[in-house]
Amino acid sequence: MDAITASARVAALSNAQIAELLTGAAESADGHRKRALQRAARAAFQWPEEAAAVVAEGRSLTELPQVGPWIATAIESLLADPPEHVEPPEIRRGFLALAEARATLAANPDALASLRSDLQMHTTYSDGRATLREMVRAAATRGYAHVAITDHSKGLPIANGMDEARLAEQARDIAALNEELASSGQRIRVLHAIEMNLSPSGDGDMDPAALASLDLVLGAFHSKLRVTEDQTERYLAALRNPDVQVLAHPRGRRYNVRLGLRADWPRVMRAAAESGKALEIDAHPDRQDLDVELLRVANEAGAFVSIGTDAHSVGELGSIELGLAAALRAEVPRARILNFMAAEELAAWVSDVRANG
Ligand SMILES: [Zn+2]
Ligand SMILES: [Zn+2]
Repeated sequence: MDAITASARVAALSNAQIAELLTGAAESADGHRKRALQRAARAAFQWPEEAAAVVAEGRSLTELPQVGPWIATAIESLLADPPEHVEPPEIRRGFLALAEARATLAANPDALASLRSDLQMHTTYSDGRATLREMVRAAATRGYAHVAITDHSKGLPIANGMDEARLAEQARDIAALNEELASSGQRIRVLHAIEMNLSPSGDGDMDPAALASLDLVLGAFHSKLRVTEDQTERYLAALRNPDVQVLAHPRGRRYNVRLGLRADWPRVMRAAAESGKALEIDAHPDRQDLDVELLRVANEAGAFVSIGTDAHSVGELGSIELGLAAALRAEVPRARILNFMAAEELAAWVSDVRANG
């Protein structure tokens, strides 16, 4: 094999493809090798650069997280002699790896810096690991103008969901925090929002009066996510719910765990566009829900899109890159991405949606 052929082949396997091949190799391995392959496969999605590029530069793959000498050799042989097709099963398909997301962001140099907000995150008010102030402080370092705090509602006790009294307590805490931020000259502001649990019939679990005073209401399904029948009616019902403006992690899929719900997506997206409501890109690495393929459908219908990291810890705020890269790949215009709106524009959008019911 001459040098040109070698480098062309080296460029051919992405980290996501390497992850898939390592997952396949893990299936026939035992003991510590199986676990090492599985760990490396999961880590590959978070490697900051393409393994192929590391090898092409003559560096060692052991620079990458979860890659020891044995795994490095395994990856080098995959890169040297890649299989013709790497086709993940549906349960692992359509997930961006960080390195490819960063390539997309590098091709759109002002996109990340122009992003004004992250519109889904959790705190110790529900099942987050960081306090409200810790999350906001970390979000501020990312340069956001505002963030939406979206703790869970009471219908999700497993996630320590809030009832109306706790939501009111959080409202007072957020108001006080916004005053602290303003008086200390900080730019970031906190939107009081919620991730309200929706029943499979599209109904919420909170008093509508309590929701009316919030800056933003996300609605999300957390039950009956493994049914295989068409769920179009569930989505249409959720979009008719007058208390909800954003449908969060619409499919409910999880990498290698759950496929997520099925629906007549063009019809759901058209209904979203007609209602003026937004569909979310939950940017959590294991969710990426919506993914690029469904975002193209949403984009064609003209629906609004909202990006949220669904961060349950400070470190997870970084996955905004995956969500933004997906929106860019699907060519969703900035005017239809809530995260590019200033706080006043977003507030006007929310009141328009509320006025439309
Ligand atoms: Zn949660
Ligand atoms: Zn959720």
